[in-house]
Amino acid sequence: MKPRLLFITVDALGPEILARARAPVMKRIMEEGLSVQRATSHFPTLTTPMMSTILTGCLPDRHGIECNTRLDLATGRVRGRLRDLKVATIGDILVENGYRVASVQHFMLEGRPGITYTQTDGGDTTGMTRLIAGCMEEFDAVFTIFQAVDAAGHRFGPFHERTLAEVEKIDAAIGRLLEVWKGREFLLVISSDHSMSYADRASGFSIEEFFASMNLKATFLSEGDSPSKIDVAMLRYPTVPIFLLSERARDLSLEIVDRLRNERELWRVYSKEELKSLGNGRYGDIACTLNKGVTTAGALVETGGFGYHGTEGEEGTVIAFRGTMLKGCRIPAARLADIVPTTLKILSIESERKFDGENIWSCDDER
Ligand SMILES: [Zn+2]
Repeated sequence: MKPRLLFITVDALGPEILARARAPVMKRIMEEGLSVQRATSHFPTLTTPMMSTILTGCLPDRHGIECNTRLDLATGRVRGRLRDLKVATIGDILVENGYRVASVQHFMLEGRPGITYTQTDGGDTTGMTRLIAGCMEEFDAVFTIFQAVDAAGHRFGPFHERTLAEVEKIDAAIGRLLEVWKGREFLLVISSDHSMSYADRASGFSIEEFFASMNLKATFLSEGDSPSKIDVAMLRYPTVPIFLLSERARDLSLEIVDRLRNERELWRVYSKEELKSLGNGRYGDIACTLNKGVTTAGALVETGGFGYHGTEGEEGTVIAFRGTMLKGCRIPAARLADIVPTTLKILSIESERKFDGENIWSCDDER
């Protein structure tokens, strides 16, 4: 009998949020299982690319999902709801190995052959728990994303009591789910895609004006927009992907990077080479981010701060494994891309596929 798999991702559960919440189940799993002391995300700390990394063991350049939205240069349109992974997910590998696989809301598994996918309200922890428990009765591997922490965090801030209350609810839900497979051999994997920042200061910086000062027409594009007659297209904050569309803009590329680096309101400017070295060369031609805690959405600051992610300083995540086949162990550091190779190793599943991450579990740790 192969061990079953319960694969839980909690959107936006940074280690600081977990530390502040009353979450006895997850904290016990971190202590008793194989857990990572310094677990980190990759670039950018946005949900869709990181959920893709969690499920593929690959960075954006390999798995093909560079951001939450994409400027399709061929058609000139901005598209969201990206699902076109270029590599197999761990769900696909499990199907190949005879597992019956279900996903409740782990949305990058939507439409994958052989995987039963249920779309639901990821913020409704109670409803989700019922659906997940139902899947656990029928399937050998169940994947899920709880999204209530992310939703509350965006609205109230990462450490607000309403946000921490959602962590506590999810923690209790995980406790109930563990009861469903009680007495059976299974592996539990807990992960998070990124942590969160808090914006409470408004910035007067305008990147459109910055480009206008160089005689370049630059516009932010949203989903469905098509760029026309502009030199520079940008997608949204906080880490703004910048695409140099006109020849003139491309010729000024180095100067643009240099000048952006002199802007005091900006925290970090990424050149194309840096984006490539972060495993995400298609994120943009250039990218930049405002100082932490600062936003151009001034109206939102006036009505109270808000939580956001997608910039530096949100790399902290949660990674933990627990199963009867493992003994407790602390790994000093690991990254999201290591989750798939490690999970496959623990489940004794061989795969010839190439991952960007690696197995962090040693067989010496076997019970
Ligand atoms: Zn997320």
